[in-house]
Amino acid sequence: MPDFIRLLPDSVANQIAAGEVIQRPASAVKELMENAIDAGSTNIRLIIKDAGRTLIQVVDNGSGMSETDARMSFERHATSKIRDANDLFSIRTLGFRGEALASVAAVAQVELKTRKQGDEIGTCINIEGSRVKSQEEVSCAIGTSILVKNLFFNVPARRNFLKSDTVEFRQILEEFQRVSLVHPDIEFSLHHNDKPVFQLTKVGLKQRIVHVFGNQINEKLLPVEMKTEQVTIYGFIGKPETARKTRGEQYFFANGRFIRHPYLHHAVEQAFEELIPEAAYPTYFLFIEVDPSSIDVNIHPTKTEVNFQHGQLMYGSLRSAVKHALGMFSLSPTLDFETEQSFDFNIPKGYEPKPPTITLNPDYNPFNRPSKPASLSRPGDGIKANRDQWEKMYDVVNASTTGIQPFVEHSIFSQVENKIENDKIEIIPEETISTSRLIQVQNRYIAVNVKSGLMLVDQQKAHERILYERIGAMLGSEASAPQRSLFPHTIKLSAIDAEILREINEDLLTLGFDINELGGGSFVINSLPADLPIDKVSDLIDSLLEDFKNNRTELGSERKAKVARLLAHNIAVKVGKLLQNEEMQAIIDELFSCQVPDIAPDGSRILRILTSAEIEKLLR
Ligand code: ADP
Ligand code: MG
Repeated sequence: MPDFIRLLPDSVANQIAAGEVIQRPASAVKELMENAIDAGSTNIRLIIKDAGRTLIQVVDNGSGMSETDARMSFERHATSKIRDANDLFSIRTLGFRGEALASVAAVAQVELKTRKQGDEIGTCINIEGSRVKSQEEVSCAIGTSILVKNLFFNVPARRNFLKSDTVEFRQILEEFQRVSLVHPDIEFSLHHNDKPVFQLTKVGLKQRIVHVFGNQINEKLLPVEMKTEQVTIYGFIGKPETARKTRGEQYFFANGRFIRHPYLHHAVEQAFEELIPEAAYPTYFLFIEVDPSSIDVNIHPTKTEVNFQHGQLMYGSLRSAVKHALGMFSLSPTLDFETEQSFDFNIPKGYEPKPPTITLNPDYNPFNRPSKPASLSRPGDGIKANRDQWEKMYDVVNASTTGIQPFVEHSIFSQVENKIENDKIEIIPEETISTSRLIQVQNRYIAVNVKSGLMLVDQQKAHERILYERIGAMLGSEASAPQRSLFPHTIKLSAIDAEILREINEDLLTLGFDINELGGGSFVINSLPADLPIDKVSDLIDSLLEDFKNNRTELGSERKAKVARLLAHNIAVKVGKLLQNEEMQAIIDELFSCQVPDIAPDGSRILRILTSAEIEKLLR
């Protein structure tokens, strides 16, 4: 019988191995930057073209390599960083697997130029798909320059798998930011398509964070510091009031390495929660230093997942370090924390709640309402056709009380009805107190008298649904939304946020936003959708960016739905807002003109009917 097993050629083996280490341009960026750091560089330049598809170049002023080392560096499992398995427990460098350069060279065209201090002349090596094309002497600066061209040129499947340039570049930015945060003492620069994105000078950690994420983060940071026998924790957390709005920036570094660690993340959240309710999304930049022997970075090829030997201890230390930082902060009376807090309980001194009163307007005629209150009106509203039918409905039912016409099944309701356990919804006008036909309960629900009982509608969810469908329709159409120009309002964004904003700017334009980039992460907002209150702009942009950052949605339609949902959420009247009668009326009318009147954009229920039978039972 013939034998079938044969060894794969090196080039194929390397390509397979490369798949684990180099998944996308950002992975190559990470490996090359880490090598530059391991080489003791004090200045590292990253040059990118077409989000890394055509070119990734890292130029450093580190140790450089000898001619032999230069050649060796591309061999698989070639590393200068460990010698034997014991060294695995004392790793102080970022690399140690000796796989990165071999992997990059397996899937790209690579040019390496390097010179050691003291050497007269440097070495230049060209490699393409693991094959050395040339090696020669070259005069070059001390340090190393690695040029990676046409990544995945020989792995079409990988190449096709790459996402849009925006997405790929965003990942590169992430890697760049992570690396640069750990090393504020190193100068970094980043150029994309010949434009400078970052020029980071040598500074302290706080300054580095500010340079990377923009000035606005400066006042938001609280220092964290703690040292025990097993662990040193330092860094910054965002002040609690900034934590409320968005998830913010969350970075853990263990021994100089960016890590993902849900368990430790939980420790931080816990610390926040214990002191400030609702602060669910803390910002943090936390650095953990432990004995290298107590941490296992070996478990994942890209080394972002690590194991701590004393996980629980780490959890406890981290939580108390953060709590301590927050505690110090809240004890200090001069800081704005206290005043910010009291905003949440905005009740004047000596206030005594009064029972609600009902004011009757004897002239009020529910069937003579203005066609639409101003706050909700919008020219070119395409969905309102059904609305009139709901109004007719009133008339019909109204008639029924005079005995002329019983309940008439209506198309708008038939949808709701199917979903609401076959309840028959019908308005029974209360002619005696017409103004209270719609009652607002707890500044939160609208109670509507329907034939089968009492319908409770969540005002915020209802309004979100209405706006969601309206915005959705607008995003799907060519017509652009009415805008309201305002005094240009400038916002400053981190590089990543800026990328995201560029990505969604077109959709925002359709919705009535007019946002222009000023450069350097600054954007100017010239106009807003007519419905959006000016004071909501920053929050809205924040939550949009936040959402996109955390779930990288790409499909156009998904993205549109998300923009619509977030926008609706931000514009909608909130729980707690006292509504005028006409406003309630408009909400109810428009809700039942919606395609899905009973489910909020987030999937929760908008309304329920308490049937007469249920009410009766309640009061038995
Ligand atoms: P690892 O970093 O895991 O050792 P790499 O494949 O990334 O493996 O690099 C292989 C070796 O090449 C390194 O151990 C190092 O000796 C050398 N090397 C790579 N990049 C540089 C650089 N920028 N400067 C100096 N030496 C480098
Ligand atoms: Mg390496």
